[in-house]
Amino acid sequence: MTAAQTILKVGVTGYPLSHTVSPAFQQPAFDHYGIPAEYRPYPVTAEALPALIAQLHDTEWLGLNVTIPYKEAVITLVDRCTPTAETIGAVNTLFKKEGSLIGDNTDAHGFLTALRTDGATDPSGARVLLLGAGGAGRAVLVALAQAGASHITLANRHRERAEKLLDSLAAALHAQQTAVVDWQSAEAQAAAKAADIIVNSTAVGMAKGPAPDLSPLPSSVFRSGQVVFDLVYTPSLTPLLRLAQQGGARTLDGLPMLVYQGAAAFERWTGMPAPLKLMKAKAQAALGT
Ligand code: NAP
Repeated sequence: MTAAQTILKVGVTGYPLSHTVSPAFQQPAFDHYGIPAEYRPYPVTAEALPALIAQLHDTEWLGLNVTIPYKEAVITLVDRCTPTAETIGAVNTLFKKEGSLIGDNTDAHGFLTALRTDGATDPSGARVLLLGAGGAGRAVLVALAQAGASHITLANRHRERAEKLLDSLAAALHAQQTAVVDWQSAEAQAAAKAADIIVNSTAVGMAKGPAPDLSPLPSSVFRSGQVVFDLVYTPSLTPLLRLAQQGGARTLDGLPMLVYQGAAAFERWTGMPAPLKLMKAKAQAALGT
């Protein structure tokens, strides 16, 4: 008789977790290497979160992805954060190293890798208009600062949130010229026309989101030579990207970033190179894109 094999635990926590695509592309990556792990959703209430995170010290756990609304709350539950997670002020990946539970953030890496690889664009020296000042916007700002964008203009529906975000990241953004403009104002349109790169990190245009049929910018601002990156990944062609394409801009949807941030997490957990092609194909299949 052989001893039963231990199935390693790994997954994603958040609340609620009804729409997570992560299991669809993470599980095949473990299976690809024959790693006996089960990646599954762990939807827990805020009260139950500390107990779940405490379990991660057990040897059967590899780690965890963290999503809305716990990206900030887990910071107080880990032994330490990576410098990137500290700067962003949010954690999306928990992994273990030499007995310590570490909080990392792979969103900035995912964003930059998607922009450089799939978007064929280096933000170094670029003028950028960033729409949105939520959690994803925060990671994008840190990524743009790290990559050396020269000008960053920020527009958010609630302007004061954008101002607070820039203030809180002032140290990271020391080499950038930054500005805040009103949401959907003439200044925002002028900044869009002048931008080399436009990034949407709002939920506008997201299927089943607050404004699925709207574009945050009108068609008149787009031109050839621009790159328009929408972090939204359902649908793959958002109203923003459709107008940007009609205006001659190059476009990039949120799926590559989603896969790269997950791939970086997989590498933290396993020490193996993530099977990117497989993960991308599985994510596309799960999203029907
Ligand atoms: P969040 O922290 O809740 O922030 C939401 C953002 O959307 C805020 O800037 C908010 O503006 C804005 N917003 C929401 N409804 C709006 C509306 N009706 N009109 C204008 N602005 C509106 O969420 P998040 O984590 O930053 O995620 C934002 C988007 O990025 C989501 O669609 C998410 O799926 C996507 N995302 C993609 C990836 C990826 O890997 N591709 C990673 C992370 C996030 P206010 O501050 O004014 O409310």
